[in-house]
Amino acid sequence: MTVTLVPALPPLSAPPARPDPLAVLGVPGEINLDHAASAPCARAAADAVAALLPWYASVHRGAGALSRRCTLAYERARQTVADFLGARPGDHVIFTRNTTDAVNLLARALPAGTTVVTFAGEHHANLLPWPRGSVRLPVPASPAEAVRALAAALRELRRASPSGSAAGTRADLPVLVAVTGASNVTGERWPVAELALVARRHDARILVDAAQLAPHAPVDLAALDVDYLALSGHKLYAPFGAGVLVGRGDWLDASPPYLAGGGATSHVGAATHEVRWATGPARHEAGTPNLLGAVALAAVCAALAEADRDALHAREQALLARLRDGITALPHVVELRTFGPDAPRVGIASFVVAGRDSAEVAAYLADAHRIGVRDGLFCAHPLARRLLAEAAARSGRRDLPPTALRASLGLGTTAAEVDALLAALARLA
Ligand code: PLP
Repeated sequence: MTVTLVPALPPLSAPPARPDPLAVLGVPGEINLDHAASAPCARAAADAVAALLPWYASVHRGAGALSRRCTLAYERARQTVADFLGARPGDHVIFTRNTTDAVNLLARALPAGTTVVTFAGEHHANLLPWPRGSVRLPVPASPAEAVRALAAALRELRRASPSGSAAGTRADLPVLVAVTGASNVTGERWPVAELALVARRHDARILVDAAQLAPHAPVDLAALDVDYLALSGHKLYAPFGAGVLVGRGDWLDASPPYLAGGGATSHVGAATHEVRWATGPARHEAGTPNLLGAVALAAVCAALAEADRDALHAREQALLARLRDGITALPHVVELRTFGPDAPRVGIASFVVAGRDSAEVAAYLADAHRIGVRDGLFCAHPLARRLLAEAAARSGRRDLPPTALRASLGLGTTAAEVDALLAALARLA
């Protein structure tokens, strides 16, 4: 009998683990529960910036190899963001500084006579840039009421009135509905697809302020049938200084440039008036662009596109439920909310501690527990004031402070961090 000796196979070694591109950078011991203001930087963003730094050169302004590579990186970043947000052919992706900048850009690009319709619950960035004569609907009590109120307002705007009256001319003019995707005060999600449908039925366009929605849920212009979308890179795990306005190109190409200067023109003559503005994103991006910001933002978009968003959502919702259940169990803490307690939300909760000044509570959390939260009225004064009054009425307490606290969760948040906040709040009873 022959015996064949089989050489032992080398042990199977697992391939080196790929670092998680959505792991966030942070400082050990510091608990960041203020993601809604600015999220920490994701590894994907940091790596993308580090990889590009040796190539750092001008964008759209040089013929050298470094410059060409930077231009390519910038335009690839634009395409990545376009894909991530479901941009359609004909949409422009314009890099801005942040959401505020993006909304202001669109406000300047509105055709003459456009009526803008918003709700009073918006962040100031989606209230203050709009022109006089805009319609501000009251904060609705439920998502369904928001849809009904918008339909009624648009019906009224579009109602054909006796010819010659002011309302008669208004009926034919453009209308833009500007709504948030998720509230920065309560985290409550707004019924964006339903509101878009109502806008469409009344021949109006719609902008979604996705500053708070995009970090927590996929947002797709085409699927939602939304015309414009604005967001901030620094809330989406990228560094400060890059945001986007994405949407229909026609108004944007017809309006004066948001910034006048180099890069926004196709021809400038000797006479002061002799200038032809570029079309496309370049029209509104004069000046040397924020290459690193755009590339970092795109890197996070690409990482999120690859990620299991359902799993991320489930994890965040579990943490949010832990936080909100914990708050509800503390008799001296009252949550702020616009809709019912079970309305869908992203990982944000605002609340007040009865009998305690919110700024002092925030300072106590930071100093005694190294927990960072936000206090104040969250750049949404009309909404926050209304919700504080509603919280006082609901709880029957007369000792609620005039400003609130907000805890907001993100990719790196752990159950232990949520528990640390709840334990610290419990000590304030
Ligand atoms: N919109 C919403 C819903 C926000 O929460 C914020 C910021 O908190 C903004 C707009 C403005 O964002 P930025 O300060 O990045 O311009």
